[in-house]
Amino acid sequence: MRRQYIAMIAVFWFALVAASAIWNISQIQAANQQADVQVARSFFELIVTVREWNAQHGGVYVPVSDLIQPNPYLNVPDRDIHLPNGITLTKVNPAYMTRLIADLAQNGNKIRFHITSLKPINPGNAADVWETQALTSFEREAQLELYSWDAQPQSFTYMAPLITQSSCLKCHEQQGYKVGDIRGGISVAFRTQPVVIWPVLLSHALIALVGMVAITLFGQQLTRAFSDLERLSQIDSLTQLHNRGYFDLYLHREFLRSRRQQSSLSVILCDVDYFKSYNDIYGHQTGDSCLRQIAAALTATVKRPGDLIARYGGEEFVMVLPDTPAAGAIAIAEMVRAKIETLNISHKGSHVSNHVTISLGVAAFCEDLKEETLLERADQALYQAKHAGRNMVASAALTLTI
Ligand code: GH3
Ligand code: MG
Ligand code: MG
Repeated sequence: MRRQYIAMIAVFWFALVAASAIWNISQIQAANQQADVQVARSFFELIVTVREWNAQHGGVYVPVSDLIQPNPYLNVPDRDIHLPNGITLTKVNPAYMTRLIADLAQNGNKIRFHITSLKPINPGNAADVWETQALTSFEREAQLELYSWDAQPQSFTYMAPLITQSSCLKCHEQQGYKVGDIRGGISVAFRTQPVVIWPVLLSHALIALVGMVAITLFGQQLTRAFSDLERLSQIDSLTQLHNRGYFDLYLHREFLRSRRQQSSLSVILCDVDYFKSYNDIYGHQTGDSCLRQIAAALTATVKRPGDLIARYGGEEFVMVLPDTPAAGAIAIAEMVRAKIETLNISHKGSHVSNHVTISLGVAAFCEDLKEETLLERADQALYQAKHAGRNMVASAALTLTI
């Protein structure tokens, strides 16, 4: 695996973790908001239920005290009852009770209730700007609730309409209300808790880090395994030279380069003479060792960085010599031939010498020559060398030199 793939996987991993963090935070925010709405709805329902209970009884009487004074906006004959013991009871209707509960709640729980209407009897119950908009939309668009969050201070305001019940008509019929009419609304407001996102950020940072370490370690191992595999797939295990597959690719690349740059390119095919009988006489193991010695000798002879020596197959080797014209290739082939002779590997089965020898065929690239033809010509030259007595160099290139 290449470095850029690891980098791509790392980027993908970070994007995935970031997307997960964003999604989790948005889920938490949505859940918090849902909870705010539920809390506000519950408060509203509770207030409406208490008010209904009050309305069913036509209001309730409580003793007048410092906390509760008679309601100046309640215009009924039996508003105040004076008991013989000196205590005065005053009637608390649903609207007044809502206001009293609202005062109590605001002092204790920091929750604000506000009973309001577009036509309030008590001017103190007049709607603010947001409440006026909400009440208007309840009436015009038949909305059942409205809410909004404010950033400064971090708070939530909820409002729902008060629908006229039959129990309300006792007092509100003279205002022209019928059952089902919207008589006003109650807003519920409270401070909200800021969304806690650091645990999500911290856990995701940890996940990203652990994943990154895993990707890096795993990526390094894979990179090593891939380059080992790549190397093994190009190398001949017996001689440690490049193999036929790599040679094919290399020759193709050099052929194109040579044609593009109009430079010379030579190929030398080498074949061990009478190698079958060498195996027959000395055994396969010794044959293998002989091939390894020949491979080492070939490698030692050719020095340029662009030169390639490969095992072509069996006891045949091939050399690719870029920027080398035929004459140069013939000289190298002759050096190689002589070098193998000097190895002095005994070969009783050879009809040409008492030690191992090789025959070589040289071909050079020229204009209009096809890639396959280059090898064919080297093979033909090798055949000529074999035919002419072995342990020699033959060339198909003398007339082809650029
Ligand atoms: P020539 O002089 O015409 O090239 O005759 P030769 O015997 O060398 O050619 P031939 O093609 O008849 O035989 C090639 C032999 O090379 C056959 C095989 O036993 C041997 N050979 C091929 N690959 C290997 C190898 O990997 N190890 C060993 N030990 N021998 C091999
Ligand atoms: Mg052969
Ligand atoms: Mg041979």
